[in-house]
Amino acid sequence: MLSGYLFKNIRTTQRLLRNFSSDAKFFKVEVVSNHRKAPLQTQRKSIAPRFEKKTRQKISDYLKQMATPEIEAQLAPLRAAVKEYGDLIRDLKAKQAPKIDIDKAVVELKARKKLLEETEIALAPKEASFDRLKLEDLLKRRFFYDQSFAIYGGVTGLYDFGPMGCALKANMLQQWRKHFILEEGMLEVDCTSLTPEPVLKASGHVDRFADWMVKDTKNGECFRADHLIKNSIEKLMNDKKVSAEIKKDGEDVLARLEGFDDKDMHEVITRFKFKSPITGNDLTEPIAFNLMFPTQIGPTGDFKAFLRPETAQGIFVNFKRLLEFNQGKLPFAAAQIGLGFRNEISPRQGLIRVREFTMCEIEHFVDPEDKRFPKFAKVADEKLVLFSACNQLDGAPAREVAIGEAVANKTVANETLGYYMARCHQFLMKVGIDGRRLRFRQHLSNEMAHYAQDCWDAEILTSYGWIECVGNADRACYDLQQHYKATNVKLVAEKKLPEPVDVDIVEAQANMALLGKKYKKEAKKIQTALQQLTSEQVTAIEAELVAKQLYNLDINGEKFELAPDLVNIKKYSKKIHVQEITPSVIEPSYGIGRIMYALLEHSFRQREGDEQRTFLAFKPLVAPIKCSILPISANDTLVPVMDAVKEELSHYELSYKVDDSSGTIGRRYARTDEIGIPFGITVDFESGKTTPYTVTIRHAETMSQIRLEVSELGRLISDLVSGRQQWSDAQAKYPKFEASAE
Ligand code: AMP
Repeated sequence: MLSGYLFKNIRTTQRLLRNFSSDAKFFKVEVVSNHRKAPLQTQRKSIAPRFEKKTRQKISDYLKQMATPEIEAQLAPLRAAVKEYGDLIRDLKAKQAPKIDIDKAVVELKARKKLLEETEIALAPKEASFDRLKLEDLLKRRFFYDQSFAIYGGVTGLYDFGPMGCALKANMLQQWRKHFILEEGMLEVDCTSLTPEPVLKASGHVDRFADWMVKDTKNGECFRADHLIKNSIEKLMNDKKVSAEIKKDGEDVLARLEGFDDKDMHEVITRFKFKSPITGNDLTEPIAFNLMFPTQIGPTGDFKAFLRPETAQGIFVNFKRLLEFNQGKLPFAAAQIGLGFRNEISPRQGLIRVREFTMCEIEHFVDPEDKRFPKFAKVADEKLVLFSACNQLDGAPAREVAIGEAVANKTVANETLGYYMARCHQFLMKVGIDGRRLRFRQHLSNEMAHYAQDCWDAEILTSYGWIECVGNADRACYDLQQHYKATNVKLVAEKKLPEPVDVDIVEAQANMALLGKKYKKEAKKIQTALQQLTSEQVTAIEAELVAKQLYNLDINGEKFELAPDLVNIKKYSKKIHVQEITPSVIEPSYGIGRIMYALLEHSFRQREGDEQRTFLAFKPLVAPIKCSILPISANDTLVPVMDAVKEELSHYELSYKVDDSSGTIGRRYARTDEIGIPFGITVDFESGKTTPYTVTIRHAETMSQIRLEVSELGRLISDLVSGRQQWSDAQAKYPKFEASAE
């Protein structure tokens, strides 16, 4: 009876094989026997390439995150078929079914798994089998970047950039500056990294810029609590011995993890019995660890300060001057490029989590009542992949939506935020991020600070998973209000009223003579607090002073008793033409290192048929060096042509690298391909035979070549770098050059 059931299901698998979509070419050649008794896996002739188990797992994990709806539609029945047999075997074991039935079911399960795996391999995009070790090897060997202080053993979370990394980063920053500061007419500032404690107290960083950390109870090793939980649950998920129930529980925890506090995390660590992943020892309860690097300014040790954790505060504290510079008008945006420092608990993912990194931040100041953006229509049709909070909560996939539509239906809070998201998308595509591996994920309400109105992270898919590379947040008026409270310097803009209006003002003025006697040094603080009260608050104080002859003033938890003689209540009427408003802030915050790492992964290629030959296919716009110059031999007759090429490239301000080493031309091409030089100019024995001289240009990505006069080189390569022309345009215009095999 049971065996019959098994065989029926072998046929189901066979039907699944046959019914497969015709665009999965892997299935068209599938050989499926209908012979009932032959084991399934011996009936099939696989054409999927062979991969190691680890790579097959990687491809499967990648598709779980990245499959397009079409691919998902093809994989879903195969996944269901595997699950069906997994469940069946568990059931058979529970019922203590005959061994033969269990064995047969296991054979069938293996066949189904193999089919799923091979289908995944056949349908997966190339990047799914991306080999991080190979990329890391290349980046190290060709000194893009490496761990700092390596000869002293290295420091985790700190990296030094070599010549290629420097040039790539500089080009990315140059594009960022052009794309935002220049095109949007932003005001650029360059503020200090050393920041006095009161500034970061006001911004909330001193009290709240912390991560939860757990420690190994025996050796004291530290782990970020949320990362430890995530990694431990992911390990559980891949463990066959763990029950479906526990896995489901783990999935629920992962979905809610972003909003967990210390108690929630402690509860999970205890319930799942998570231990140190290194030693297996017990872990402490989560402790808050502030991520800022403390220091002091000057020799006394009294002036406490921190290395800035973000560049934004430098802009807020200069708001008044920037507003003046902008002739008092809103909206306007200021930007800053500079270093941020965060003492990350256990940085382990290369450039993705470091302790010192370059940030590019924009603070766009806007009327809180009117967040329309004058140029929004220009980007309204731009399509972005949005992973809204609703989608996340419903377990629905991200969706491609025009930003205009997303703002109109309030998925994205306002035009200004939507505009910056669209510009962010354009920038990331411009520098070479793969659009299929880019999405905007909305913060869930429990992830956002209480004052924030809406946040969308630009996340890029890398071999480490989806990584937040840019935060786009509507932070309302919080930052400016906090610095006003701390300094009593009004950080407001004036908004013209449609009509002048008469307003009744009620102010509380400190009687400093008496206040000084009673509260000494504290008197100034009380005066400042009284000045900051609104008319409504003063009216309420007045009522209490009349009723109780006493008012308890609360300044950040400190209480000060005020009798009526310490405070004068002043009332008067005033005609006002303008209204003072605290601007709202829309803040796009870019981490350049993370974008750069994602770009390196997305640009990494292996030559078809020669997997050991790896190279970087950068967009010419950001490529560290634009051209290589390769003389075919060391013969002196080539020197005048080489000089002419160098002069031509310099005239167009194009960077180049001469490789006149003795290797074969093929080896030299491979070396320049590795560091992502998009165009190789070869000077050969034909070059100097004609006037004007001619050379060949080789396009690294496709290895195709054309021949042209040296005097045309500069303009063509400039056009290719700026994107005014594509390589296909150049191929159409200039004769093809047939090179001997590389
Ligand atoms: P945040 O202020 O935390 O939203 O961070 C702004 C941006 O800085 C993020 O989107 C990341 O790109 C980048 N970033 C934050 N922390 C790190 C880090 N430890 N290492 C590298 N980049 C980071």
